[in-house]
Amino acid sequence: MNPRQNARPEAIREVLSRKPIAPEIPKNEGGRALRVSEYYGSNTLGIQQMKSRLPKDIFNHFMASIKEGKKLEREIANTIAQAMKEWALQNGAQYFCHWFQPQTGTTAEKHDAFLSFDDHGAPVETLSGSQLIQSEPDASSFPSGGMRTTFEARGYTAWDPSSPVFIMESGGVKTLCIPSVFISYHGHALDEKTGLIRSIEVLSQKSVELLHMIGDTDADRVITTLGTEQEYFLVDRAFGALRPDLTMSGRTLFGAPPARGQQLEDHYFGSITPRVQAFMADMELELHKLGVPAKTRHNEVAPSQFELAPIFEEATVAVDHNQITMEVMRRTARKHNLEAIFHEKPFAGLNGSGKHSNWSMSVVSKASALNGTNLLDPGKTPHQNVRFLLFLAAVLKGVHKHSGLLRAGIASPGNDHRLGANEAPPAIISVFLGDTLSKICDAIAKGELSKYSAEEGMIKLGVNMLPEVMKDNTDRNRTSPFAFTGNKFEFRAVGSSASPSLPITLLNSAVADAISDLLPKLAAKKQALGSIDKAVMEIVKETILETEKIRYELNNYAEEWVKEADKRGLLNLRKTPEALEQLVSPVAKETLVRLGVFSDAEIESRFHVRIEGYVKRLSIEVEMMLQMVDTQIFPSCAQYLSQLLETTNAAKLAAIESPLTSTLKKVSALMSELNDRRTTLDSAYQKVLATGDFHEQSKLLSRGVSEAMAQLRNVVDTLETVVDDAMWPLPKYREMLFLM
Ligand code: ADP
Ligand code: MG
Repeated sequence: MNPRQNARPEAIREVLSRKPIAPEIPKNEGGRALRVSEYYGSNTLGIQQMKSRLPKDIFNHFMASIKEGKKLEREIANTIAQAMKEWALQNGAQYFCHWFQPQTGTTAEKHDAFLSFDDHGAPVETLSGSQLIQSEPDASSFPSGGMRTTFEARGYTAWDPSSPVFIMESGGVKTLCIPSVFISYHGHALDEKTGLIRSIEVLSQKSVELLHMIGDTDADRVITTLGTEQEYFLVDRAFGALRPDLTMSGRTLFGAPPARGQQLEDHYFGSITPRVQAFMADMELELHKLGVPAKTRHNEVAPSQFELAPIFEEATVAVDHNQITMEVMRRTARKHNLEAIFHEKPFAGLNGSGKHSNWSMSVVSKASALNGTNLLDPGKTPHQNVRFLLFLAAVLKGVHKHSGLLRAGIASPGNDHRLGANEAPPAIISVFLGDTLSKICDAIAKGELSKYSAEEGMIKLGVNMLPEVMKDNTDRNRTSPFAFTGNKFEFRAVGSSASPSLPITLLNSAVADAISDLLPKLAAKKQALGSIDKAVMEIVKETILETEKIRYELNNYAEEWVKEADKRGLLNLRKTPEALEQLVSPVAKETLVRLGVFSDAEIESRFHVRIEGYVKRLSIEVEMMLQMVDTQIFPSCAQYLSQLLETTNAAKLAAIESPLTSTLKKVSALMSELNDRRTTLDSAYQKVLATGDFHEQSKLLSRGVSEAMAQLRNVVDTLETVVDDAMWPLPKYREMLFLM
């Protein structure tokens, strides 16, 4: 029997021969490599560049329209479009596109040339105001969750002026990208951005009301700030090409744990290999040109796992920049013969990837020093601290009431594998405050603050010491899904492949709802007590008491927490379908509709889009698994079995005892098990196919089918450790993760 061709050794040779590809830093005329500050933002038309390219009054109109969300007049739009086109042409872009975020988890774009013809038929480049503001992509194939019926199967994209336009370079081609929202003809949000923008608006309104009530009457607006730490894996493309599971589903469906995983803890913050270093620098060069403030790079916990953290920005821009980051990362990785993997759990048994979303609220004020104040920053004065505690209470209240909704926002098939597994927060939403702040909250709950004036109280409780204490990183808990980290919350449960849009939209909504609830209570208390400070402290106390069960300071990875959370009556929704049901729960709907973040139809559509996405992704995984078993695993095992049989038969002929008899028995037993489990998975999957409805399908997939997949994987992974290494067709974890 001819040995089956095995491409693994060739892939290994290829990987070992790779050289780092140094990034081409732009140079000045004298040939000196430019500094970051000299090329930063050269591919984006930010506010400053707009200012220098637009007449003053037009620029002021533009800024006002961003601030107040007002529509631009046609003439102004035309002037802006003209300036953008000139900038794009000067920078070598011949095409433009509306760049938007349909609910596919990635971005979409449709390119148009600037080319048109003037009255005399001569070719000219144009971009009109109306082209800038609105376009009609043929969008009938984007997921809409049943919201667009076929007779109006088109939505339109509309420029979101709050996010700067940019030039994307790909394959040597430059395109002007216009960040846009995507809306149906009836005005329903079909994308990820629209809801986010609305949630920022309503959180701003409520927060401003609250600020005015406590005397910060100069507050004009409150913006949501966001810094997303992006975790990812890198795998050489030569290995990737031999892993159909990785290519098709973004994760390995099979793969035995390597002898050395992450137990030596040597990868985290370890030195970055030259090849990866070159990739990172190259990617950051592109990002910096695009005005994406990439700041920190380091190795993560698992082998071949890394992180990129930007400097935080306004949430709408941060979300766009995160999408751009993923895109640039994907593309740059390929240039370096690497595959960037964003799946939440690409390798079983190893750390998964998250997108820690650092979130806070910041005040905009034309008139005062209040401008730029971070509302979750404990300050120096008693007033600042009263304000801090009030907004902290609002966050606690929001998360307490809407923990189900927040869980729904992070639900995805990838995150189902991550949450509750190695080094990842569980599916239970809870809040970590840190030792110091936790003690302060407990003391407030016990009524200790009411003994003192606000000023004395802050000192007695140590609130004014918080900034100092929080600088000390030891008061940290890396296991919580939602942790206070000194002047912001870190929403860690967000998955690495997800757009942060929906999680942040729902978080904003939860907090806006909490503030709506606190406002009348605070007003009443103020009347009763005659002092706003006293009223705030009473409200804070009540809120801390009311939300106690959502706080957890110990190890969220431990089994005890699961039991404790159960006792407290907290939700532990392990799988996407059950988590998504929280999105359409009566309380979620009532809240989102009342706040104007989503209409009923928009919520339903988000639920359906996500359920459908879940079904499709899992179906791809099941089909891939079955194919891999049939065409790769089984034939390789059969080859090994036949070799064992040959040896055993030869031994029989020679009248000696074969040393391989026990291996033969083991392999043959494992192969029958493989057969059985393949059949079990197949029949469980056939039941799914026989079910008409996505929701029902999702339930079957999340239970029986997922279980059968795990069972099948188990036996394959055992076979991987038994079958002759030379015959195993799939690159092994030790190769994919350790050879770069
Ligand atoms: P840490 O190590 O404490 O998590 P970093 O300062 O590196 O801290 O912060 C992680 C992320 O949080 C970065 O993206 C950072 O810009 C962001 N961040 C810092 N302050 C804020 C804030 N006020 N709002 C939102 N994100 C913030
Ligand atoms: Mg962090």
